[in-house]
Amino acid sequence: MRPIDLRSDTLTTPTPAMRRAMAEAEVGDDVYGEDPTVNRLEEEAAALLGKEAALFVPSGTMGNQIALLLHTHRGDEVWLEAESHIYWYEVGGLGSLAHVQPRLIFGRNGKFGPQDLEALREPPDIHRPRPRLLCLENTHNRAGGVVWTVGEVEEVAAAARRLGLAFHLDGARLFNAAVALKVKPSVLAAPFDTVMVSLSKGLAAPVGSLLLGSRDQIGEARRWRKLLGGGMRQAGILAAAGLIGLREMVERLEEDHLHARILAEEMATWPGLNVDLSLVQTNIVKVTVAREDLDGPALSARFHEAGVKVSALGPRFIRLVTHKDVSRRDVEEALRRMKEAYRA
Ligand SMILES: *Cc1c(COP(=O)(O)O)cnc(C)c1O
Repeated sequence: MRPIDLRSDTLTTPTPAMRRAMAEAEVGDDVYGEDPTVNRLEEEAAALLGKEAALFVPSGTMGNQIALLLHTHRGDEVWLEAESHIYWYEVGGLGSLAHVQPRLIFGRNGKFGPQDLEALREPPDIHRPRPRLLCLENTHNRAGGVVWTVGEVEEVAAAARRLGLAFHLDGARLFNAAVALKVKPSVLAAPFDTVMVSLSKGLAAPVGSLLLGSRDQIGEARRWRKLLGGGMRQAGILAAAGLIGLREMVERLEEDHLHARILAEEMATWPGLNVDLSLVQTNIVKVTVAREDLDGPALSARFHEAGVKVSALGPRFIRLVTHKDVSRRDVEEALRRMKEAYRA
């Protein structure tokens, strides 16, 4: 029995078109700025997201960490949501790399408003770190793929400007948000100084993310990338797949969203599981296990045994993620397997 893997959209494998493009990619040494395929990817991405320049980086984590390094000095304060990826899943880079101090915003389903920022405002004081940067995550991973709308982002952006904060978007799944809202990704990216997007999740490229911003910022970012060991040579082999991700794989994310909806609506009817359907807006389903006799890791293990892999992200919280390597039939088969295992 082939397991159906719903742990993450990072599990997507490159498409046949990507493999062909990788095999045939025109390459050069990208540290010298001479890889034509990387240059094309960076130019196309900058145009698509409405920014002056882009930098191809090995991972989303490196993209976010470079953004922290760009916008802050050691000892500065970075404002970010308490469930954000940068705070939870980047190995403490806030402290160990950027030497900054997080100030947490306790949002509602990953989101917050201008009033939450105003509540953190303090008069300048010699004792206090300098607030320098605000980060936002769209879609929000731990909240279950929740989308920030254009209006919500713009309100927070205006507050960030009033407070003198730079504004960074962790847009690992920005294209999911754009597809869900039916808006151009550039509209969602516009209020931010810098933006990170992943190519290796729903877009199915094997490796890579992009950091976007002004020409000056991306020039500086290139130096930070080199320092962090992210200067790659004939990286056009990877960028070729990323280009296909941007050109051909965005629209199909809608299918993943439909599949997540199907999973969520069915699982919401199983007694002992809670799924807030209003939060199932993209390709992630967050399920809370509300039973005394079963917790998240135990349920995940039970599903695994039945041939469906999901993530346990907390004692009572499992996550299912749909992606291009999970078909409609796989979704139906996964539900069948999980239902049987759940009943047992
Ligand atoms: C996956 C992810 C990242 C990091 O990307 P990697 O390529 O895995 O380093 C950052 N932010 C969010 C919201 C993510 O989901």
